[in-house]
Amino acid sequence: MVSPYLIIAGGVGGAKMAQGFSDYCDGELSVIGNVGDDWEFHGLWVSPDIDTLTYTLSGLIDLNKGWGVSDESFRALGVLESLGRETWMQLGDQDLGVHIYRTERRSLGDRPSIIAKDIARAFGVSANIILPTDNDLHTQVHTSFGWMAFQEYFVREQCKPLVKDISILGIDKAKITHEAREAIATASLICIAPSNPIVSIEPILAIPGMREAIMERQGLCIAVSPIIGGKTIKGPAVQMMKSLGHIPDSRGVAEIYSGLIDAIVVDEIDRNLTSYIENRYCEVWIENTVMLNKKDKRILAERIIDRANKYGSFSSK
Ligand code: GDP
Repeated sequence: MVSPYLIIAGGVGGAKMAQGFSDYCDGELSVIGNVGDDWEFHGLWVSPDIDTLTYTLSGLIDLNKGWGVSDESFRALGVLESLGRETWMQLGDQDLGVHIYRTERRSLGDRPSIIAKDIARAFGVSANIILPTDNDLHTQVHTSFGWMAFQEYFVREQCKPLVKDISILGIDKAKITHEAREAIATASLICIAPSNPIVSIEPILAIPGMREAIMERQGLCIAVSPIIGGKTIKGPAVQMMKSLGHIPDSRGVAEIYSGLIDAIVVDEIDRNLTSYIENRYCEVWIENTVMLNKKDKRILAERIIDRANKYGSFSSK
């Protein structure tokens, strides 16, 4: 399936953007998600960002938390705790059903891309969820307490340790899926969602050949900044960008994506960063980028599509 709109997304911020596009352009959307957060818990393969996309686009997401499904119970986790297992990763009973299914199919040798697609279809998602690679990727974080898996840093340590370096296990040998390659080549608009550029988007862009594939696109490529007034809505992007030597605001985000994007969407509150970014990297589009509800998400998607339409017949080339 070829869609005119393609989102490159992480978890919560990525899923919000994908939902806005999905609502606005029903069924004409593909989303490439991040598999760098994948990790095994209790012998099960958990893919947090892909599940957040699936649960959000199916309407099952717990809106208060931004992850997991609503009306969730944690009885299986309670059993695991009483058996002495570590249960800091909050895996609900319904969620565990997805992980059991995914793990079983992986053990049968099925392609992770097909498994993700089948789960999305079963949950009624109309957008085309695409994995960037079928190879296993694991983002590792070098912190003041040593190296740890991304979920250990993000969930167990609640992003408190200082981040000194990031490494993505498996990245050198990872291959782009043909679905991702086709979606990038054929989209009229690629939108890098307001996701953490370092641990949500970079594990996608760092796959060998991915940046080149995006640079050879036919369509327009833009990004939405996840940093508003020097702060994130949630998550460690600001601290991480600062400790890794980037300017911790939309200027740093534009720098990370420079060479890939034609424009960056920056929040109204950051209007003063426009000339700095436009003099160095790309065009700046000012919008209200805070998505608090379904309406905000849809309006932002509509504004972006409208501006992209006016950007010379949807093509940067
Ligand atoms: P994670 O993997 O679950 O952390 O999800 P992402 O990387 O996709 O999203 C985290 C980023 O989303 C954070 O940097 C947030 O600032 C950003 N974010 C969340 N909600 C919004 C929003 O409504 N607007 C914008 N511009 N950014 C958002």
